[in-house]
Formats: sequence, C-alpha cells, structure tokens
Amino acid sequence: MESTMMDYPLTVPHILERAGRYFPKVEIVSRLPDKSMHRTTYREFYRRSRALAETLRKAGLNQGDRVATLMWNHYVHLEAYFGIPAAGGVLHTLNLRLHPNDLEYIVNNAEDRFLIIDDVLLPVLEGFRSRVNFERIFVVNHSGAPLAAGLESYADLIAGATGEFAYPKIDEREAAGMCYTSGTTGRPRGVVYSHRSTVLHSYNCVLASTMRVSASDVILPVVPMFHANAWGVPYAAAIMGAGLVFPGPYLDGESVLELFEREQVTFSAGVPTVWLAVLQLLEQEASRWRLAPGLRLAVGGSAAPESLIRAFDRFGITVLHAWGMTETSPVATIASLKPHLERLPEDQRYAYRAKQGYAAPFVDLRVVGDDGKEVAPDGKSMGEIQVRGPYITAGYFKMEPTAEKFTADGWLRTGDVATIDEEGYIKITDRTKDLIKSGGEWISSVDLENAIMGHPAVAEAAVIAIPDPKWDERPLAVIVLKPGAQATPQDIETHLAGKFAKWWLPDQYVFTDSIPRTSTGKFLKTALRDQYGKRGPGAAAATKVA
Ligand code: AMP
Repeated sequence: MESTMMDYPLTVPHILERAGRYFPKVEIVSRLPDKSMHRTTYREFYRRSRALAETLRKAGLNQGDRVATLMWNHYVHLEAYFGIPAAGGVLHTLNLRLHPNDLEYIVNNAEDRFLIIDDVLLPVLEGFRSRVNFERIFVVNHSGAPLAAGLESYADLIAGATGEFAYPKIDEREAAGMCYTSGTTGRPRGVVYSHRSTVLHSYNCVLASTMRVSASDVILPVVPMFHANAWGVPYAAAIMGAGLVFPGPYLDGESVLELFEREQVTFSAGVPTVWLAVLQLLEQEASRWRLAPGLRLAVGGSAAPESLIRAFDRFGITVLHAWGMTETSPVATIASLKPHLERLPEDQRYAYRAKQGYAAPFVDLRVVGDDGKEVAPDGKSMGEIQVRGPYITAGYFKMEPTAEKFTADGWLRTGDVATIDEEGYIKITDRTKDLIKSGGEWISSVDLENAIMGHPAVAEAAVIAIPDPKWDERPLAVIVLKPGAQATPQDIETHLAGKFAKWWLPDQYVFTDSIPRTSTGKFLKTALRDQYGKRGPGAAAATKVA
C-alpha cells in the first residue's frame, strides 16, 4: 500500500530558504586574511548565496557541473556551500594544504569547470594552474589589488544578479558536493555527496544526543571547510539558525581563544592538535580569557586523549568526542553519555567519553574480526569498523568499488580498528596499517599516545612500529615536550608503567621539536616511519630535553 505522504525532496536549497526566512538577523562573523573582522547576517548571506546561484547559471553552469573552491573558512566559502548546490552544481572543496601534483590530479579527475579562490591563495593555484583547465576563475579579492589577466572578480560576478532566480528542479539523489580523501597511500579518491545525504547528515549533527546545535549557539568551525563538509557545521548552523564565527587562516590557539572570547562562542569543532594548543594557553593563564559559559568542543579527526577531556572539564569546557571520515560525510559516531552512564564513577565516565561513541541515527555499524565475524561486544576484542547508511559512500568517483574498500554485502570497510562494548560504544585502537604487532600480539599506538600525552610535561606524542628481529615490531614514541618542561625516557616509562602490560611499553623514546602533520592536521606517521622506522633495536634513544 502506498502512503499518502508527499514525495518532498531533501535538498540544500531548502536549508537556504529556511535560513533566509527565519533567521535573517543572526550574525555571521569572519576574520579575514588581513585580520580585519567582517560582519554580516543570514539576510545578506541568503541574498548573496542566491546571487551566486543565479550568476553561476548565467555563466553557463549546468546541472551536475563541478565548481571548485580554494578558500579559508569565511562568509564567502559559506555562500559557496549553499549557492553552488542551489544552482544545481557540485561544490568541490579543494584542500589548500595538498601538494600541487595532488591538486592537479584532483581537479582533472573531478573535471572542475570553475574555481572560486581567495586572493591570498593564488600562489597555491600557480603551483598547478598550467596543468588544469578551469574555464573561469573567480577571485575573492580581499586586498582589492588589481587582478592579473585570466582572473575575474567574485564580487563583480555576484553583482550581476537580478534577484530573479528560481532554483532548478533538483532530485535529492543528485550530487551536491564532493571531497577527495586525504589518504596517505595511493591516489586521492573522490567522495560525492548527494543533496539527500547532505541534508540527513546535517540534520543528524544538530540532535541533542550528537552535537546539540541550537539557535542559542554561536559556532566557530576550526575544522576547515575544505575538508569533509567542515563536519556538517555550516549546514547544521543554517538549519537551526545558530550564529557563525569563521577564523579565516588563523587557527593558532591564541587567535582561536581570542575569537571565542570576543564573539562569546558556545560551540566549536576541530582536530585534537588545535585543542592541545588552546589547552596549553588556558593552563598558562586561564584568567586571561572570559569564555562563554557551557562552551562545547567537538573533537575528532584523530583520537581525543582522555587527559584532554579531563583538562578541559577543569575549565568548564565540555569535549564531545566524535569519529568519522570523508567517506561518512563525516560524523558517524559521537561519545555523548547515555544518562545511566552519567551516574558511573568518575574514572569510568571519562573512559566512556574518551571512546569514539555509538553510531548516529541511520548509521549501521559493526566491528568485524579477522575471521570475518562480528567481534564480541566486550570492549576488548578488536576488529575493523564497517558502516553503511544514507550518508556513507557506496563507492568513489570514477572508480570501481574494490573488495579492499567495500564488503560483498555492501558495507564500507573503514580501515579503522576498534573494540565495541555492550553499550555499542566503539574505541579506536588504530588504523589497520598503524597497529604494532609484537610477538604476534597487537599493541595499540593510539592508547600509548593518549597515555603519554597525559604526562604533564608532554605536549604531543606519536607512537610508531619499528622492526625488531625477535618480536617482529616494537613501539617507538616520538615526543614533543611543553615549552620549558623537562622529562626523561625514564619519567615517561614510569608514567606508563602502571597503565599497560610491560611488553606494551615503547622500546625507544625520541624527543623532538615538532611532529609532522598531514594536510588535515593529523600526525603524519608515514614521515615518522621514514625518519625513525629503520632504527634497529637498541639504537641509542635521543634524550634531548627541551
Ligand atoms: P579523513 O577522511 O581525512 O577525515 O580521515 C578519517 C580517519 O581519521 C578515520 O578513518 C580515522 O582513522 C581517523 N579518525 C577520525 N576521527 C577519529 C577519532 N575520533 N579517533 C581516532 N581516529 C579518528
């Protein structure tokens, strides 16, 4: 029997219309590349996003055509998030930190027709421009300097709008956006989001048991808009009418805290490295900052150490630990505590909050062992996380789905290794390729890193496997100390000793000034393996003390 319900498509223009209709007075604040502050409202954002859609159509954009963006987080990028899909186009966010060869590959693979770019990022474009075919390049000319030949002004483009614009008819299954994975091996792979997946994902993000976004929020996405839809924050904010504060290129702890205070931010999202920097500043001089009460931070991209969650609590700031990937739109699990877990003793509560949480609505999740069967939900047995759902990718752009990435019964193989407990909370122990296999047993590099980062002198730590003739592999810890702090390998080992079996403890500790990062701010373990992985057993551990 058929229902009597309307067949109403879930599309991005609906979110835009809603924002313009109900939240015109809500503010959108951006820090621009010259550090000046730009202030606007949803009313203007609505008008300009529609102007972008109208003028892109007039410029010849057809349904399904890709428009690339190369921008920091600010109000124009927000317009692109809405205006491009509203024109029936596909928003293709380019990661400005990638190597020019990768950008060249990605732009050509996606067949991007147009580009919208920040003037300050034109040097990035120059690195690969001659090897790609953008038909038109629109520059967000923050500085106002004259534009070179072949470049057009974004402001002039949208100034050509009449306001007489009707959205094209959009099927909810059509593409709205795309983003390439930033995997450390192989070519980047294109993930294509539909209008439907974008709407369902954004809607999931606002829920009380996920990121709890409401009209009372002022949200600062530190997570870049060029990566994985900025975790759905721009769309989630527009659905609920939350205020937005964009940091532009300034993502250091000081700049972020300054904006938190100035705009009384209530919710932010980013990778742990950003929050480690923020925390250090708070620990140095908490009284310097007058932050909004009840500030929440969504932390993901890599594991949030329990020590980080505890430390922020001391400042009245709540960390929400989430997990996902480009392929999962990205938010797939979130560690909000179920009410009966809130009543557990403190240590157990923190242990839960340091897990990556349980699956968001409509995300099916299972943890599968080497034998192809789901592991026991005992919080101990490890296996690969596999997911499926309406905002999980079923393949990659222009690629045949492979058995390495998808199971025969249609689940995405995430490559993340985790345990799952009886409450359904997962705890990521590693990427498949980062696990350390010592004497036939697995050691979790993530667990060791998080514990080392709990030492008061440690700012950052990454653990990798080094070859060992007897045990096959053994852990090596690369450690950055806090400015002025001191610690020896023995200090770290004593700190770890009670927490892990003896054979888990790293064989070597290397102290260094910084740990190389990926383009999305995670520790670049391939570089660490190149640098330290060839060390044999017993190589003298550098004991430089900062
Ligand atoms: P990306 O597609 O670049 O967003 O990277 C996704 C990968 O980041 C996942 O497959 C995980 O390996 C890792 N990741 C994301 N969130 C977390 C988290 N909360 N804890 C541990 N690893 C995470």
